[in-house]
Amino acid sequence: MAWIAIRAGLPSNSQDAPAIRVHRGLDCMTQHHAGPTDVTHLEGLLSRRRLFSLGLGAAAAAVALSPRLASASLPTGGNRVLGFYNEHTGEAVKATYWENGQYDPAALKDINFILRDHHNDEVTSIDVHLLDLLTELHRRSGSKQAFQVVCGYRSPQTNAILASEGGGVARNSLHVSGKAIDIRVADRSPRQIRDCAKLLRLGGVGYYPRAAFVHVDSGPIRYW
Ligand SMILES: [Zn+2]
Repeated sequence: MAWIAIRAGLPSNSQDAPAIRVHRGLDCMTQHHAGPTDVTHLEGLLSRRRLFSLGLGAAAAAVALSPRLASASLPTGGNRVLGFYNEHTGEAVKATYWENGQYDPAALKDINFILRDHHNDEVTSIDVHLLDLLTELHRRSGSKQAFQVVCGYRSPQTNAILASEGGGVARNSLHVSGKAIDIRVADRSPRQIRDCAKLLRLGGVGYYPRAAFVHVDSGPIRYW
């Protein structure tokens, strides 16, 4: 079962706007957390109002339902829940994408949609291993906030345009294959997120301090 809510904006004066609290000196190796249910706090971030049909424009792409875990620390039991806030569209989602020992196609569809290419609304199947990576990253960072999405899926067309404009966009970006995401978190610094992501050793990690986001992907382990 997926629970989802989307809304068109995130008012800065709202009680449920993400709090900007930076916990300096956080060592994610020494943090202890309640596990995947940590994201229940996301309830506060999300409106229950559905603004439009989530199936709209979503590609009926088949989802790879591989049970492979991103990390030995992710139990096969329990739920895996991810919360996203898309900075470009103002949409938010909280989705239980793993339940009863398997991935939930409906929840994955919701995630695929909010992580779509916002330039042309093209949707792809986001790699579930990237989602598991994010689940583990969220748990280890101790964040109580949703992932703020700077860039999720990037269609080949959009990527080609951005790459031709420069700005550090790779022509063979893993964003194009749904294996990468650029994120920040309101209650952790980009440096803290980067450090936690590197400790996972589950894929690539890029640090963009000036733009204040971190790139993570489910490709080969490498750092920049
Ligand atoms: Zn990226």
